[in-house]
Amino acid sequence: MIEVHELHRHFGGFRAVDGASLKIAPGSITGLIGPNGAGKSTLFNVIAGVLPPTSGRVVMDGEDITGLPPHELFHKGLLRTFQIAHEFGSMTCRENLMMVPAGQSGEQLWNTWFGRKRIADEERALRAKADEVLEFLTISHIADLRAGEVSGGQKKLLELGRTMMVDAKIVFLDEVGAGVNRTLLYTIADAIKQLNEERGYTFVVIEHDMEFIGRICDPVICMAEGKVLAEGTLDEIKANEQVIEAYLGT
Ligand code: ADP
Ligand code: MG
Repeated sequence: MIEVHELHRHFGGFRAVDGASLKIAPGSITGLIGPNGAGKSTLFNVIAGVLPPTSGRVVMDGEDITGLPPHELFHKGLLRTFQIAHEFGSMTCRENLMMVPAGQSGEQLWNTWFGRKRIADEERALRAKADEVLEFLTISHIADLRAGEVSGGQKKLLELGRTMMVDAKIVFLDEVGAGVNRTLLYTIADAIKQLNEERGYTFVVIEHDMEFIGRICDPVICMAEGKVLAEGTLDEIKANEQVIEAYLGT
């Protein structure tokens, strides 16, 4: 579904991503692990159009998508989740979901879209969809709370929920489990698994928690120093000498 060829992203002389190549199979939940500073987030940002690459190519379903801006990738069904921005903290959780189809796709679309449809109908449909998403994620009870006031874990579920407001094909999740308690971590894992199975989403998930990875991810890719070190099942990765040296052993 996604092929990354010899991708580089340098910052000055520093090679954050240093010739990474990998393939993401359609329908998979691929785990991306590696030590801090390995270049995982930078790789995500380049794939998702947030940062231009220094060199290399990204191909999605046979089409070269290298350097396309996030809103164009969004229309192709490629999403990278972001933390709920500070300025949206005063909006309710439901409102945060309702603004996704507009917010991530750009103001222009928002305007033309509302220009040709009846606002009230659209709002009702969006609201119903948002409520469906909240229910799926078992957080209906926070619908009317301000997004800035819910727990860290609930925010993470909300971030995942944002991907469900549109027809995503592939979703990149960067440490969705960070700072989340174990119960909520597994709720998030199960929601990802269910979205994968029922809606056919492909996921690429950066995560440090090996139980989380083991629960849902196959295959697992390990990066270090901007390069792909190894790929395989979690057991294979855990047994890989280079991975142990670069990451698991430390
Ligand atoms: P990871 O997500 O694997 O922890 P990152 O992709 O965030 O790693 O970072 C990889 C390296 O690139 C780090 O050493 C980081 O300091 C550096 N880096 C990331 N973004 C920038 C930037 N905008 N400018 C300069 N250096 C950066
Ligand atoms: Mg990171």
